[in-house]
Amino acid sequence: MPKKLTLKQQAIISQLLTMHEMFPGNETELVYDTPFQLLIAVMMSAQTTDKQVNVVTSVLWNFVTCPQDVLALWHDRLHDMIRSVNYHNAKAKHIYETSQILCDQRSTDDELGYQIPQDISLLTTLPWVWVKTAKVVLHVLFWQHRIAADTHVHRVANRLAWVRTKQPEKTSEKLETLITNDYKSIAHHSIILRGRYHCKAVKPNCTSCPLLEQCKWGQKFVTKQK
Ligand code: SF4
Repeated sequence: MPKKLTLKQQAIISQLLTMHEMFPGNETELVYDTPFQLLIAVMMSAQTTDKQVNVVTSVLWNFVTCPQDVLALWHDRLHDMIRSVNYHNAKAKHIYETSQILCDQRSTDDELGYQIPQDISLLTTLPWVWVKTAKVVLHVLFWQHRIAADTHVHRVANRLAWVRTKQPEKTSEKLETLITNDYKSIAHHSIILRGRYHCKAVKPNCTSCPLLEQCKWGQKFVTKQK
């Protein structure tokens, strides 16, 4: 028998559905064709906007679809191609190392010639794959019930008092407990897009927000602006 939802969980789900109406769809904004490209794009998106990663990958994907392609590139060439993302030195190094590991681990049964681990503890053993990175990859590629919390998700969840947390990692853990699996697939992207385009860090659009009546943080913000 399904567990009864608390009033707080019911409120969160209702607000989530409102967000989803505003930002429908549940696809990542990162552009990719293969699982490996998604992994690399998410790795590059740490401290860099998805928009900037897409600018870089619009060229990079002409050369790279799988780990073997990375190993076939000159290291300096990869480095140059991703120069405009933050921490490009470290990211180029870790993309190389990750490609090497995936190539070393492949078996003759691997359809793609490599396998992206589907287990969070294995995925996070890859260089530069933090828990947040792993959760995004597992959610997008394998539809696992994960909610990664970047700064946007962390901000929105705290403003709406879904959680009271200082660190995005804690926000992610709490949201994964509060939001039932049925709604996790829409939660991940709806909250990110809401934070990115509407509930922005500096100038949130509270006056046009359908959640204003339920959001004390937003109400205080609107009062202060008057
Ligand atoms: Fe964000 Fe303002 Fe809406 Fe609250 S009312 S969710 S702070 S945009």
